[in-house]
Amino acid sequence: MDDYVVLRVIGEGSFGRALLVQQESSSRMFAMKEIRLPKSFSDIQNSRKEAVLLAKMKHPNIVAFKESFEAEGHLYIVMEYCDGGDLMQKIKQQKGKLFPEHTILNWFTQVCLGVNHIHKKRVLHRDIKSKNVFLTQNGKVKLGDFGSARLLSNPMAFACTYVGTPYYVPPEIWENLPYNNKSDIWSLGCILYELCTLRHPFQANSWKTLILKICQGSIRPLPPQYSCELQHLVKQMFKRTPSQRPSATTLLSSRCVAPLIQKCLPPEIITEYGEQVLDETKTHKHNTPRKMGRSRLREE
Ligand code: ADP
Ligand code: MG
Repeated sequence: MDDYVVLRVIGEGSFGRALLVQQESSSRMFAMKEIRLPKSFSDIQNSRKEAVLLAKMKHPNIVAFKESFEAEGHLYIVMEYCDGGDLMQKIKQQKGKLFPEHTILNWFTQVCLGVNHIHKKRVLHRDIKSKNVFLTQNGKVKLGDFGSARLLSNPMAFACTYVGTPYYVPPEIWENLPYNNKSDIWSLGCILYELCTLRHPFQANSWKTLILKICQGSIRPLPPQYSCELQHLVKQMFKRTPSQRPSATTLLSSRCVAPLIQKCLPPEIITEYGEQVLDETKTHKHNTPRKMGRSRLREE
């Protein structure tokens, strides 16, 4: 803690605060999450999960973990500082002016790459939403806030403990079914829909109507300026049955996303992370008929 100087508060939540800090020894800026540690041992262990899981992730589209430590009843998580705000802010700043499709797909591809990485490590994020997708000034997109994330060991254990943001919560959770990787995909679909329409896919004045709308799963089509491929992608992600939704790898192999992967990953990273993804998406492509009318995303 002594090595960090607090510059300002960048976020406040039920957990505590997020701070912008400068490391004295290097003069580098970081984001530091200050989490009040609860009293009971099992709750403390629970709080530590965020740091433990984030530390396991290493990918250009996941907020990079630096270190974590505990002091005076708090857990501190030091991570890369994303200086470009979050996707929710970007959407609000538009004031109703729709984003061009290439911007949406560029951001979406980067979030998919991040989600694909965590799912490969059997980690579920469980709170994917535009407010938890951070941006940097140079156009990079990073999935952050692993406060609700869990390692998938016993899926049934998640059935009752889910604490996401209601707009993004998939039908299976309202129906008390287990959370799985496809639940993250539903929430990712909500982000894609928000990027295309600047509004939530499911909106209502009461919880009851919201849940009803989510469970019916019917959404208004995207504005006509967007391609059929994009419309198709959104529809697939909002399949009521989780197993029918595409996985992150399948999304990355889709015709609108696959060509962007190489552009989104920095050259020095593409050898390390990209090749594996590109190989996998190539395999998927072989299974995908070329014509849009007949093409279907591979379902897992
Ligand atoms: P929670 O949503 O549980 O309160 P977050 O991890 O999302 O916790 O952090 C709260 C807020 O702090 C975020 O919405 C964001 O504004 C800011 N924040 C958190 N981590 C970073 C980061 N790495 N870079 C920039 N801002 C961050
Ligand atoms: Mg958050």
